[in-house]
Amino acid sequence: MSDVFPVTLVGAGPGDPDLLTVKAIRALRRATVVLVDDLVDPGVLRYTRRTARVIHVGKRGHCKSTPQVFIHRLMVAEAKRGERVVRLKGGDPFVFGRGGEECDALREAGIEVEVIGGITAGIAAPASIGIPVTDRRCTRGVALVTGHVGEGSEPPDWAALAASGLTLVIYMGIARLQDIVDALIDGGMDRATPAAVISRAHTPQQRHRVCTLATLPDTVTREGLASPSIVVIGDVVAAAAAMTGAAACPDGALKPAPTAAAGCGTRR
Ligand code: SAH
Repeated sequence: MSDVFPVTLVGAGPGDPDLLTVKAIRALRRATVVLVDDLVDPGVLRYTRRTARVIHVGKRGHCKSTPQVFIHRLMVAEAKRGERVVRLKGGDPFVFGRGGEECDALREAGIEVEVIGGITAGIAAPASIGIPVTDRRCTRGVALVTGHVGEGSEPPDWAALAASGLTLVIYMGIARLQDIVDALIDGGMDRATPAAVISRAHTPQQRHRVCTLATLPDTVTREGLASPSIVVIGDVVAAAAAMTGAAACPDGALKPAPTAAAGCGTRR
């Protein structure tokens, strides 16, 4: 029997291949089989060997996708055949990436797993427009939450999040944005809280808008901002308005602050 190498879960970052880690590039160069999610930028694949087998196993919400158990079986089968398998995932494998489930499936099959973290979209997208998600002058921290509620899973407790004072970074939130905004406002969050949507961050198609909590759904519809997008809600967003100016604010509801430092708490 051939050697069984550990399977490596690799974070590909949000898009731009320059945001890959050196460790990720090394793993890609070694791999003989690469299983790729559809959120991974095609440019990242330039680091694979010419002879590597690249298998696309898309898992995009609402689209036709490869069942998760099939991905598990494929990783196990390829590893047992002696292949050096890399499982390449957008952002970080452990942030809404089902990396935990994949680790469990591999270990249950007796295969070792290595994990190489990536830059998650929830941090990289806000940063790309100057939003410091944990700026201590306006918040005590950040909550990374999903806006997508799958079968058999509970939605986030939006009322508790509204009251938390944390910056909210919402993944997969575009499809249910109106419901999310309604739930946050019902939970007591100020309608004028600064908010931002960043679509396709760190790709040539990147677009963003800065608005307020109340105007988020209309802004997204009017501007045609689609998935994949990150939604950020909280006073830290005012820092981005300060950096990018009033153009980011089509409804004029959020007045850009003169400096990033003054950006926190400019809401009235
Ligand atoms: N593991 C990934 C997240 C996968 S969930 C990570 O750590 O980034 C998929 C969601 O991530 C998308 O619906 C979107 O909300 C977000 N996302 C991924 N890449 C993105 C990008 N380049 N720009 C904006 N949002 C992105």
